[in-house]
Amino acid sequence: MKNVKQSIFKEAVNQIISNKMLRGMAAKQLDKYLYNSLKELGRQQLEQEKLDKYYFMSSIVEQVRKNLDKGFIKPKVMKKMAQVFVGDSFTADRYKKINPVREAYYEKYGDYPPQFLVLSPGKGCNLHCTGCYASADSAIAEKLDFETSRRIIREAHDIFGSRFITISGGEPFLYKSDGKHLVDLFEEFNDMFFLVYTNGTLITEGLANKLAELGNVTPAISVEGWEEQTDQRRGKGVYQRILKAMSNLRNAGVPFGISLTATSQNAEILLDDHFYDYFFNQLGVTYMWQFQLMPIGRGKDVMDLMVTPEQRVKLYDQWAHLLEDKHLPIADFWNSSSLSSGCIAYGRWNGYFYIDWNGNIMPCVFVPYYVDNVKDIFANGKTLGDAIQSKMFKNGRKWQKDYGFENPDHRGNILMPCSIRDHYKNFKYNILTPDAKGEDEEAEAVLHDPEYEKLMIEFDNKLQKLTEGIFYEKYLKKEPVTHEA
Ligand code: SF4
Repeated sequence: MKNVKQSIFKEAVNQIISNKMLRGMAAKQLDKYLYNSLKELGRQQLEQEKLDKYYFMSSIVEQVRKNLDKGFIKPKVMKKMAQVFVGDSFTADRYKKINPVREAYYEKYGDYPPQFLVLSPGKGCNLHCTGCYASADSAIAEKLDFETSRRIIREAHDIFGSRFITISGGEPFLYKSDGKHLVDLFEEFNDMFFLVYTNGTLITEGLANKLAELGNVTPAISVEGWEEQTDQRRGKGVYQRILKAMSNLRNAGVPFGISLTATSQNAEILLDDHFYDYFFNQLGVTYMWQFQLMPIGRGKDVMDLMVTPEQRVKLYDQWAHLLEDKHLPIADFWNSSSLSSGCIAYGRWNGYFYIDWNGNIMPCVFVPYYVDNVKDIFANGKTLGDAIQSKMFKNGRKWQKDYGFENPDHRGNILMPCSIRDHYKNFKYNILTPDAKGEDEEAEAVLHDPEYEKLMIEFDNKLQKLTEGIFYEKYLKKEPVTHEA
């Protein structure tokens, strides 16, 4: 029965991609399949979580179908994407089917491996965005050598069984080491899919065509809002260069997304549906990842840039509206944790961790603290599997489990999933270990700043008050009981 269902599923995906005539009908069939599969996920998922996941998957299918119809995505590129995302990650089997690689990992480490990692191979960037840490001079910027980058991806593939890698930066398309570029890695690991966070300005016609030929890469281009906000932070003329990059990608048929960091200053734009209508319907964006500024810095300016607890709740309501009513595939790292059953950091099963240009191994791009370095790990004959066994990583995974990851009888507030932002006190005193170092001076400095700690805890307490009612009513379907953040 299971095999019959899977072949119906694969056939529907195939028809959507390859058969324009039957696309609409196949999309309806796939939608039904997704709904039934997600409803079958079992008690470890709350009913509303299953529904949110269904809305998200269904929205992806709808957006892909629209962009295939418009000719913005080429079927060949889409086939690869479907193999990685739809075929492996989001079927009902996700919670049962464990492959031999994952079993071997379990035998060795007592838990299943993460699903992916984020790699920032180089800090160099060709832009000079306000407040950005990246280095403008790519020739001298810190970076991993090509062999180290390659080994990281090879081990993710072989030891975790991962088929998905996220690349960040710096500007990834500027990365060059030993005469090699990232495209060489995309080419070599052609059974893996790469999501690349980029400023978009280096996506020429030639690069877009190359990405189409490879068929295993999707760029997520950073915007700050409209032209005014994007140019204000990224530099004059950058928005127009982004539009050109998007046009190149549409012409080549490569699906692309946008990524955006919400701040107290652009939150209003994100509460307006016009923004999404324009990017999704007119520019052919297929998905959007939204982040919220994580204040790592002691200045009041940095703290003031973070969205307020009230704005965060409004952004949650907006996300739910965009997903349920407008069917737009958008995930907000902090407000959409129902899609991932909570925090996915610390190399959690089905989650991820982060390696930067110095090789420092961090739980998450928003948790800038490390114990191990991948260059030392490799030099000592160890592997990526060993790299995520530090006490700090284990503390983080224990917290995720205690917070109720996949435990329907004891779930923490799903609207406050973040181990560092939403539970700062717990992070500082129960997860962080004395051997952990800050990724940079600012990350180190805030650990010794009582004012920073006070402001973070105040934010958490306020957020708890504002979100607890929503969590209880919408997700637990019962009356709220007040706890400490
Ligand atoms: S630490 Fe926060 S930002 Fe990072 S994965 Fe967990 S919830 Fe998301």
